[in-house]
Amino acid sequence: MSRWYDYVQRVLREHGISAAAAARQAGLAGAGIHNWKNGTRPYAALAVRFARGMGENVLEALVECELITEDEAARPPEKRKRSTVKWFGEPWPSDESRAPVCEDDADRVDPPPAGEQCVLCGELFPPDAQGITLPHLSADLKTDIRYAHIECIVQNVGA
Ligand SMILES: [Zn+2]
Repeated sequence: MSRWYDYVQRVLREHGISAAAAARQAGLAGAGIHNWKNGTRPYAALAVRFARGMGENVLEALVECELITEDEAARPPEKRKRSTVKWFGEPWPSDESRAPVCEDDADRVDPPPAGEQCVLCGELFPPDAQGITLPHLSADLKTDIRYAHIECIVQNVGA
């Protein structure tokens, strides 16, 4: 007996059908379920087919088959971590080969408004400037956005 076979037995009992009928319903070879009795565990694809055919939860089946853990079955799909760093201008060093910070167009923001100065060098941004935004906590505790040239960031980090 195996955990998988215990699970299969439980499902068959709950559905009140025989192994042969379940195999037919799930589109499995009749011998499949019989082999499980000997402790053989199915490949993931067969475990899923069995569960799906029986209208059971496929994640639960994979757990009972000991292919994944309970934790993995319960874990919600990971949300993509959104970067807090935004970037503007043309991607660098080029559109084809981008630095990690400007890889994602979803993080691209409008270039700084006219008159905005680089927070690092204090110079005004030309219209074709490239750089990133830095959240800045101002004296009144409101977060506003500051802009920095990518060249200044690179220099700053390198210094
Ligand atoms: Zn600068």
